[in-house]
Amino acid sequence: MNSPVLVINCGSSSIKYALIDSDPEAPRLAGLAERLGSSEARLKGKNSAGESFTQALPNADHAEALNSILKRLEGRVPGAVGHRIVHGGEHFTRAALIDENVIAAIESTATLAPLHNPANLAGVAATQKVFPDLPQVAVFDTAFHQTLPPRAYRYALPDALYTKHGIRRYGFHGTSHAYVSQRAGELSHRGAGGWLTAHLGNGCSTSAVWNNQSQDTSMGLTPLEGLVMGTRSGDVDPGLHAHLHRQLGWSVDEIDSVLNQQSGLLGLSGLTNDMREVEDQALNGHPGAKLALEVFCYRIAKSLAALSCALPKLDGVVFTGGIGENSPIVRREVIALLPHFGFSLDKAANEGTTRGKEGRLNSTDHNGPEVWVIPTDEEGRIAMETRHCVESPE
Ligand code: ADP
Repeated sequence: MNSPVLVINCGSSSIKYALIDSDPEAPRLAGLAERLGSSEARLKGKNSAGESFTQALPNADHAEALNSILKRLEGRVPGAVGHRIVHGGEHFTRAALIDENVIAAIESTATLAPLHNPANLAGVAATQKVFPDLPQVAVFDTAFHQTLPPRAYRYALPDALYTKHGIRRYGFHGTSHAYVSQRAGELSHRGAGGWLTAHLGNGCSTSAVWNNQSQDTSMGLTPLEGLVMGTRSGDVDPGLHAHLHRQLGWSVDEIDSVLNQQSGLLGLSGLTNDMREVEDQALNGHPGAKLALEVFCYRIAKSLAALSCALPKLDGVVFTGGIGENSPIVRREVIALLPHFGFSLDKAANEGTTRGKEGRLNSTDHNGPEVWVIPTDEEGRIAMETRHCVESPE
């Protein structure tokens, strides 16, 4: 398929899009329709000359926003649409050509991702209306982690909770972990082998990848488990929920909202969920910001050390996501907490990388595991998987 792929990431009030050519170097048309359904709805993006635009779309719904996006594609006609779908449960181990059965399977998984899957499906329905003749492909955040062995995906809970209710660890950010681990294998002379990946954005997760297959990951049933994130707590004592309910009288919804929206960097610093600001304030000596940075880095290091148990050997660690790609401080602190792994971070390389650039951060004569920064490309990976699925469906 030579035509470009339109990648769609549909939220409840937003649509992120990118038109991606078969030549990965070709410029992309990309943008974001946001605040859909409100009087402030708008479409922002870049044209092929790299110029930014903003267009008001008052009260537009998803289908209207898609029609406006279509007009921004500069006459280029996509050959397929790739949809990011958050949760594929155990149904999907790879991308799937969307038909009625696939939609029913995604619907049946909606209890596991009540905020995301219905919004993703609304995007599929709206796209089908606008492009009735194009093949549509579902690419799942969870699919890459379907290679986890039971020892990694099972919680130590009564069996029926897994067999009857699907309660297990699924993992997320799969397209990102898949992309950067594969890329590390291509860039490093070590090839595909044992890579630890740290996707550090607003959401954060780690993964252990052996021969391009995920062996373990830090997120679980939901994207709340694991690392400290912008506003999410990550791991807490599972007894916390009962404690907060019994001692403070909090409802399930209140507990859920505190752990998802008021915790993480924001909760610890008392200031912000934005790592740039946390770093600035920590450098100014703000105690909350210093603590937030310390806990954030310690928990990443602890998670990477734990995940190393999933790998027969360790070839290196890859940092990605807004923080992983741009924060020399976080990379330095995390690596400093893992002295027994034999990493060796080159100070100049760590401080010299700039956003958008791939780079190895250890000296070339170093024999221990490597350290890489690899900018993630979730849209590119979704386009690649979509293309593959359309060309060779199962
Ligand atoms: P999302 O998960 O929403 O895609 P990103 O991957 O863009 O988010 O990551 C956002 C995070 O990256 C924010 O915490 C932001 O502060 C952080 N970030 C971006 N640039 C820098 C930088 N130069 N230094 C430190 N953190 C940065």
